[in-house]
Parts: sequence; C-alpha cells; structure tokens
Amino acid sequence: MSRTVYVNGDFLPEEDAKVSVFDRGFLFADGVYEVTSVLGGKILDFEGHAVRLERSLGELDMGMPMSRDELLDIHRRLVTENEIEDGLIYLQITRGAADRDFAYPPEGTPQTVVLFTQTKPGLADAPMAKVGLKVITIPDLRWDRRDIKTVQLLYPSMGKMAAKAAGADDAWMIEDDMITEGTSNNAYIVKDNTIITRHLGHEILHGITRAAVLRFAAEAQMKVEERSFSLAEAQAADEAFVTSASTFVMPVVQIDGQAVGEGTPGPVAARLREIYLDESRKAAV
Ligand code: PMP
Repeated sequence: MSRTVYVNGDFLPEEDAKVSVFDRGFLFADGVYEVTSVLGGKILDFEGHAVRLERSLGELDMGMPMSRDELLDIHRRLVTENEIEDGLIYLQITRGAADRDFAYPPEGTPQTVVLFTQTKPGLADAPMAKVGLKVITIPDLRWDRRDIKTVQLLYPSMGKMAAKAAGADDAWMIEDDMITEGTSNNAYIVKDNTIITRHLGHEILHGITRAAVLRFAAEAQMKVEERSFSLAEAQAADEAFVTSASTFVMPVVQIDGQAVGEGTPGPVAARLREIYLDESRKAAV
C-alpha cells in the first residue's frame, strides 16, 4: 500500500513525492533529521525531539521552518492517514535546493521539509530484547559535532555492515580508548548496580531516549554515573545496553566476541526497558 508522505506543505502518495536533485541534503548532507516512535497510535516524546531538532538547526545556522504545533499536526496527520499503530516517523529538514556551491544559498531559500512513516507492528515487543545484541567495536571516524543530528550517516552505515559481516548486530565506536556510542544508539554499562554512560558533549548524540532513561533511573533511586568508559571496562561489566527512540532500551550481551556478565540480558536493562515503555506510553501524544 502506498504511504502518504509530507513534502514541503503537501501530503502526497509516496510515488508523487519529489525533491530536487539540487537539494543540499542530497549534494552536501546539509540537513538534519529526527526519528520518533509511535506506540498505540500515539507519538512518544514529541517535545524532546522537537527541542533537539531546533538545536540541531540552530547549530547549523538554519531556522525552524514552522512552529512546534504545526510540526506536531503534521506528525499526527501522517499517523492517522497511514493508520500507524506501532511505527516510526522520520523527519528531515535540509537547507533547500540551490545551484551547487559550497557557500550556503542566499537567505530566504526555502528549506526542504520531508516526513514519512514506517509501520513496525509489535515495535515494543522486539524479540531481540529477550536475546540481546552482539556488538563489535570500530574506531570512531565521524566528524567532531556528533551532537548535531545531521544526515551524514555513511560511517554508521558502514559500521552496521562491518557488524553484520562479523556475525554481530551492531558496532560501538571507540575514540581515545573510550567508547563513544553505538552506530545509532547511546551505550551503557552496569557495574555493581551503577549505570554508567558517557557524559554529554560534542562526541555523542544527545539521545532523547538517554535523557528519559536517566531521568527514570534517578526517580527509581538507581545510581547513575555520566562518564566515559573503556572497552575493557565494558567487557568486565555486569551488564550492557543501548538506547534509542526506535529500540527503546536494548540489552547488549556480547562485545567483540566476549560475553558481558552471564552473556544474557540483565535485570537492570530489563527494568529500565519496562519503566521507559510504561512511562513513555503514558506521556505519549
Ligand atoms: N546516537 C546516535 C549516533 C544515534 O544515531 C541515535 C539515534 N538517532 C542515538 C544515539 C539515540 O538517540 P535517540 O534516543 O534520540 O533516538
């Protein structure tokens, strides 16, 4: 069935949705994106994603082309028109189409705004949550502003392919001997009931799920340390897990072929997943 997608003010069948070959997103990866989950037909943490979107745009001297309310209306209309019960909404905003030039186009060049949905039945019941991910490690060769959610995803894509080739599910990236994050998620370990995840900075994406999970962990009186950790520390941890808007809290059971803890999903990750899903569903819009 053809989806209805949003392009620059229009809701169109996906076959009719077009973006210029001169779009700077296409030519320069000059754009930012967000991925938001839908559970039970409702949008999770819209506010968090909207705030980060505005920040990403601001860091690149781009404006927000519409109000937060208008953006929410578009999200909702796509969920309704595409009958999304469980799924994802992808949003991308680029600096627009202009004759190819490294310099930014003149002020007033219309930005390109695209949104589309992906249906994911049973998104919250992913079997992987019971099994856990195997990850490999790779050097972090991305640029130094990973806090801006740009569409430059080639290196993470290469990382996923390297993981697949090694019989694993994903890759964690290492810089200066410390884990930064996963290819499309934030990375955590648990040692002696303390949850450890890298501090915020330019080196990682400020995950919306990360912020929510750390808030819920604190409310549940769990101990949290925001600091970097090494591969050796991760391999010696009791548990490991990742978070992202599309996978929520997902256990990691193996790193570079070595089992983490018992080599099975741990209780802290399971509890955080449950709390995150419960609380996020309650607050969904
Ligand atoms: N880090 C990276 C590199 C990511 O691509 C993502 C997901 N887009 C995350 C972390 C997790 O962020 P969020 O919880 O907002 O999905």
